[in-house]
Amino acid sequence: MKAIIFNYFKRGLFKTNISFFCLNIIVNSNFAQFKPERIQNSDPDTVWVSPNRQVFYTTSAIAQQMTPFNASTLIKPGDEVRYGSYIIRKIGERVFQINDPGDKSTRGGGWGVDMYLVCGTKKALLIDLGNNYITGYEKDLIKARRNAAEELLSVIEGLAGKLPLEIAVTHMHPDHDGMTAAFNNRKVTFWAGAGEDLNALKTQHTLDPSIYKTFIQGEKSFDLGDGRIVETFLVRGHSNGGTVYIIKKDMLVFSGDALGSGFGQAFPTIEKLRQVAEDSQKLVEYVKANFTPYERYGLRVYTGHWWQNAYGGFLYPNKSQTDIGYLDWRFIQDVATCANGILQGKWLIDGSGLRYIGNMVYTDAWPSAEGRAIMVCGIGTIIIPLRQAYEAAGLKMPE
Ligand SMILES: [Zn+2]
Repeated sequence: MKAIIFNYFKRGLFKTNISFFCLNIIVNSNFAQFKPERIQNSDPDTVWVSPNRQVFYTTSAIAQQMTPFNASTLIKPGDEVRYGSYIIRKIGERVFQINDPGDKSTRGGGWGVDMYLVCGTKKALLIDLGNNYITGYEKDLIKARRNAAEELLSVIEGLAGKLPLEIAVTHMHPDHDGMTAAFNNRKVTFWAGAGEDLNALKTQHTLDPSIYKTFIQGEKSFDLGDGRIVETFLVRGHSNGGTVYIIKKDMLVFSGDALGSGFGQAFPTIEKLRQVAEDSQKLVEYVKANFTPYERYGLRVYTGHWWQNAYGGFLYPNKSQTDIGYLDWRFIQDVATCANGILQGKWLIDGSGLRYIGNMVYTDAWPSAEGRAIMVCGIGTIIIPLRQAYEAAGLKMPE
């Protein structure tokens, strides 16, 4: 322990006020900024990993050793372990869900959001970056947490080891790019799909948008080694360049918010409804063309907000929940059928399977959707002002 502390001193990474007892040392508040300098001279194969695994929690004036994340209990798929703010679940061989269980005193993504880490033999890919707990995000009432960056870094390092790391977001919303700063200056490549508003990074988190590279969905893929190739697919609507990530070898789909997470997605304009209708239908065709029936029946769809999976289609007061941890091929089809069904006015056709079940009333979770029509097809749901649904279908709304 002493040697480790001495190392930090030698590197001049923080100035101490001296005096430490056992595991406690007193440090000044610039401790949190020590990381970027430390990896400057790392060798290229270990680029993003901190050379010294020891990380410290800081309290008001006292730093305590932070136990590094330990992945050894994640043996079989389904195993999970809690570490600080996150619950880490093994969902496949070297594939992990990093779940932020959320906090109901917040708003929006603060209610829970998920990241996914896929490790290959050559590199690791982190899909999405969750909520910003480094500086907080005021609009969602999310406050900064102490050691937020160190905590997530320790998780990813514990899971991916020294594999080179790339990070790709599903879209540039604050609950999906929030922890960008944790990896900034660590020689990690950040990716976002073409069409996404990179400037959002500046307005959301005061970060320089140029740290992200963009790719064309469908052209870009991530070869992680050992046949684990992550393909990219464009689904607009929720955002302008939303990316769905697909791994054929593992029959895994990571869809962010592009299809919703199981209780629907709200669209403010007819144009966005048309986009999601078109792109989700293309995704259906893509899956049919690239997976045999047997394969696609077994697709696992991991969404951006795992907790919503349980709602089985729509959010409503007193709604009972389903015990479910991921969505499936039916979900992809239901979203496409729902969006296209609205454009065809099918909620008005008896027996079509598309139902208009009433207006959104559960406003705590989703104030912006209040009063909009909930259109449900199976477990696919779209929430849209009723007037716009009529207009999108080319119909006159009855007065
Ligand atoms: Zn989200």
